[in-house]
Amino acid sequence: MSPGRPAKRVPRARARPPSRRSRRAATSAKSRRTPHLSEPPHGHIVCRSCGRIHPLELVPADCDVLVEMTARGPTGWAVERVAYSIAAVCPKCRRAAAAA
Ligand SMILES: [Zn+2]
Repeated sequence: MSPGRPAKRVPRARARPPSRRSRRAATSAKSRRTPHLSEPPHGHIVCRSCGRIHPLELVPADCDVLVEMTARGPTGWAVERVAYSIAAVCPKCRRAAAAA
């Protein structure tokens, strides 16, 4: 500091809002895998007889595969969400069919 001049306060680096990179790092691993999707992939099994729907638990590897599949779509389409569906017959309908 030079003599005779009032001490000048050196401004500290201003607190900035988190950068795009740090915001991404703060998000969950699940959302990092699906940057272009409105929600993480989800799955369900649907009874083709009565329409009953039961959710399927997807592990991270499942989600990775489903997200990778979105790249195989035709050019120009904007993928928004991914749903994996299995057609099946539920136990109740199977019992009813066996009893008939
Ligand atoms: Zn059913």
